[in-house]
Amino acid sequence: MRYISTRGGISPIPFKDAVMMGLATDGGLLLPESYPHVTRDQLESWRTLPYSELAFNIIAPFADDIPGDALKEMIRRSYATFTHPDVTPVVRENGVYILELFHGVTLAFKDVALQFLGNLFEYILAERGERLNIIGATSGDTGSAAIHGVRDKQGITIFILHPHGKTSAVQAMQMTTVTDANVHNIAIRGTFDDCQDMVKALFNDLDFKSKYALGAVNSINWARVLAQVVYYFHAWLRVSDRTGQPVSFSVPTGNFGDIFAGYVAKRMGLPIASLLLATNENNILTRFVNDGDYSLTGVVPTASPSMDIQVASNFERYLFHLYGEDSGRVRSAFEGLRKEGRISFSPSEMLQVRQDFCSASVDQTATLATIGDFFRETGYLLDPHTAVGVRAALDLLPSGIPRVCLATAHPAKFSEAVEKATGKPAPVPDAVAVLSGLASRCEVMDADLEQVKAFFVPRAKQLSS
Ligand SMILES: *Cc1c(COP(=O)(O)O)cnc(C)c1O
Repeated sequence: MRYISTRGGISPIPFKDAVMMGLATDGGLLLPESYPHVTRDQLESWRTLPYSELAFNIIAPFADDIPGDALKEMIRRSYATFTHPDVTPVVRENGVYILELFHGVTLAFKDVALQFLGNLFEYILAERGERLNIIGATSGDTGSAAIHGVRDKQGITIFILHPHGKTSAVQAMQMTTVTDANVHNIAIRGTFDDCQDMVKALFNDLDFKSKYALGAVNSINWARVLAQVVYYFHAWLRVSDRTGQPVSFSVPTGNFGDIFAGYVAKRMGLPIASLLLATNENNILTRFVNDGDYSLTGVVPTASPSMDIQVASNFERYLFHLYGEDSGRVRSAFEGLRKEGRISFSPSEMLQVRQDFCSASVDQTATLATIGDFFRETGYLLDPHTAVGVRAALDLLPSGIPRVCLATAHPAKFSEAVEKATGKPAPVPDAVAVLSGLASRCEVMDADLEQVKAFFVPRAKQLSS
């Protein structure tokens, strides 16, 4: 399998190069040249497979430059870190299925992708005798999942900047209690944007970037999307009761990575009836699906902070397909977005969009009410991100088709919202309770690029020395 860029500016590359490239060098996103098709018979034969064997079957055709045994072992190790035997179990509550994606180390769905990505990086770096310095900014979830994905991995050093005192206490502890030698937490006296700006400045310094082999772990890496395709298949196999039965999925959406994985699963032949794209007040993607209006507005903070996003980075992957794989059109659409702050769509394109997705935006009041109602009716606690998807599913998806709602975080991770909604905080799981007793390490500094560099340089591993 070879990978191409949505902007058309690179010649096709194999999987391992695509993983190491992250963002395509022409500024686009990488996609496989085609999607392997899964037949109904194949699908049926996977029904009883454990998660990691299913994952191997789905991932292998995309990663055909890695020997099967090595890939299998990487996948096995990645999902052995999950605390539930079914890795991503499905439970039935209140007429919907909840796909619990939060049984990984940081209690959010990003572990599914980042545990795998950490092992992939380590494998490829060892094979090539190379090193990587990962640097990233986080408002909470991505940073902690990335740190846990690469801690104690050979060949990788990671630096994560977070805004000091502005993540949740649990998120901060999940990051700073990782004291492995290759992990560096930097708390910036400033905002998430200050962190993001400094990371961008380091990446834009091309000499610096190549001297220190800087790498990113943000959600544009193809391997992250690929790892997420697996749980759509897994959930379908748990929920459907006959060959080919369609199932709908409701996906709380921020950067469009998770829902794009569902779109890939559908293109591979998984019988998906509807893909429901659920947003909070930051609803550019809902306006796009429902009204063809893709225009930028400001970001507002909500009870589901991991979805407080304006420009969804993975949306470009979908546009490439919507435009019939025409990279010229992708380029001009983003040129237009830069100049006019919007992208426009033709009636026939909108027809296609509405075949691919339906969408709803759920505001904070409705989100908290959903957590409260759901808890009173079932005793089951939803986190605020999951609640956005559940509300949208109950409102929009017909109940005659199984409805799977992706649960993207454990409620204890966003306990403040849960307490507001139900009157009491979420019970604290062991994985969180142990954190406050652990040693922690974190460097606090001003939002000053020179200070960050002065910290980074002696700790980073140079590419060749
Ligand atoms: C990252 C995140 C999301 C959004 O996922 P995308 O792939 O960015 O659409 C939703 N919920 C939680 C808890 C997250 O951490």
